[in-house]
Amino acid sequence: MNIRTQLTLSYIGIVLLVLFAMYFFLAGTLKGLLSDRITNELEIQAALAKEFLIEELPQKEDFTYQVIDGLVDRLGETGKVRLTFIGADGTVWGDTERDGESLIAMDNHLTREEVQDALNLGSGLSKRKSATTQIEYRYLAITMKQNEDLIGFCRVALPMKTVNTALGNLQWILLFVSIAGSILAILFGIFATGAIVKPIRKLTQITQSVASGEVTSPVEVNSANELGQLSRNFNLMTDKVQEQIEKISVENQRLETILNNMSEGVLLVNGASEITYANPAAIVMLNLPDMYIGRALIEINRIPELQALLREAEQTETVAFSEIRLGNLQESEAEVTVVPVTAESEYVIVIHDVSHVRQLERIRADFVANVSHELRTPLTTIQGYAETLLNNGSTKSKKRKEFIVKILNHSARLSRLVSDLLELARLESGDVELKRSLCHLNDFHEQILDVFEPVLEESGVTLQWEIPEDLPQTNVDSQLFMQVFVNLIDNAIKYTPDGGVIAVSAEVVETDSDAADEIVVHIKDTGIGIPLESQPRVFERFYRVDEGRARKMGGTGLGLAITKHILLCHNGRIWLESELGQGTVLHFALPVEKSD
Ligand code: ADP
Repeated sequence: MNIRTQLTLSYIGIVLLVLFAMYFFLAGTLKGLLSDRITNELEIQAALAKEFLIEELPQKEDFTYQVIDGLVDRLGETGKVRLTFIGADGTVWGDTERDGESLIAMDNHLTREEVQDALNLGSGLSKRKSATTQIEYRYLAITMKQNEDLIGFCRVALPMKTVNTALGNLQWILLFVSIAGSILAILFGIFATGAIVKPIRKLTQITQSVASGEVTSPVEVNSANELGQLSRNFNLMTDKVQEQIEKISVENQRLETILNNMSEGVLLVNGASEITYANPAAIVMLNLPDMYIGRALIEINRIPELQALLREAEQTETVAFSEIRLGNLQESEAEVTVVPVTAESEYVIVIHDVSHVRQLERIRADFVANVSHELRTPLTTIQGYAETLLNNGSTKSKKRKEFIVKILNHSARLSRLVSDLLELARLESGDVELKRSLCHLNDFHEQILDVFEPVLEESGVTLQWEIPEDLPQTNVDSQLFMQVFVNLIDNAIKYTPDGGVIAVSAEVVETDSDAADEIVVHIKDTGIGIPLESQPRVFERFYRVDEGRARKMGGTGLGLAITKHILLCHNGRIWLESELGQGTVLHFALPVEKSD
């Protein structure tokens, strides 16, 4: 039931209540007043009739119907009252309403209430429906005496019709007023309550909109009463709520941007280890499936160390930290921190991928070990031969020469090693000043032939130079670039059995992005190839597939690392394809200069 109906019904209720109260009050008062008037009238009429009858009545013994009824009828003509004369024994001798036979047939009236009262008290009053006329009357009987001797009763009666009619009229008036009042109450309910209900309805609509998260316009404030105040307060409240929501959404956006762009993985799990949030980095690190929200972490990713860490944080209720190998990531090491969010019984897991750092640490450690090892071998050899020469002065001159040649070879290797290391350090430091000049890759052909012709002839390996003439020019440091060709072709010759073929070709490859097109050079050999597991590592310093063989070939294990760095300095890149026993192709790419 809405407020308007409630108010209208209340108004109708009040109107009806007031009218009924009025009716009972008025009916009571009116009835009292009218019956008092009737009683007065009866008393006056009874006194008049008594006086008249005392004068006119014959002696008791001479009573006849004719005489007395005549007297009574005469008297009755003057007033509107019914007049009855009843003898002392109860016989009705005269009645204004009855004549002749019907008068004689009237029953004895001594038992009538008013007559009995008159007999005992001198006068008696009663009200009832007349058995004679069937009309409701009020009766007043008084005693009549002749010389102190009771001769009868004078009874006057007035119909109660006037009282009943007046009460009936009152009822009709009140019924009419009730209907009119109810209609007025309904009209009042409709129009007057509108002023109250309309703003409340508006407020209700707006609160519903706010509750469903909509941004709403403020409620119009038209009045200065309590509703106006309520609307003003409501507007203030929605303003504040909206301000807070905006603040929170800005904070959320900020937080989301931070979390989305963090290199650390951030994960939120509840008390049951179910994931409630994961940032993009965490999704990648833990290889989470599409529907990961609400799923248990252990179900998706079986990392016992991570579970143990979670348990530790749960038990100690403090931050738990450990370095963990995340199974799903290839060889990935991560620093994982679990922070309990006490109030929510949630845990924030922060995963910091340190595999790159660890790899660098390993490379550095390997490098130191490798450098020491690489330097020690020729040094020990040189030392050994020099001591032998010193201690055995008698050694034959042929042997001496052989030893000195060995010392020279190892010194040369040592010198190569040191200069390679210095070159690599220089390139890695990034402060190499490139002496760039425009040149065609074919410009290197002659120099390369000069370097490699004797070796090629000796090994019977063929070098096919297939770089097209129409290839764009490159803007490179030609001295450094010569080293790229020398290192790659030298490797190809070293690791290709006698009679093999080495092909050097180049092409322009269009890149699909906005970047410049590339000149890609391929150096293909028919050599021993590189095993798959070693392929990603051959560009590392000192990495050699077969250490003994490489060293025998005079390699330092630094050639490809230097080549890679020279290309990086020229914004280029290098990669390889190889099949064991079939051969290797080393590709390198350089961006085509715009001015070209
Ligand atoms: P090195 O001076 O020992 O040749 P590099 O850095 O030039 O050192 O090469 C690293 C390793 O990569 C070599 O030891 C060799 O095992 C492998 N390698 C390089 N080029 C080739 C090739 N063309 N064919 C087969 N193996 C190769």
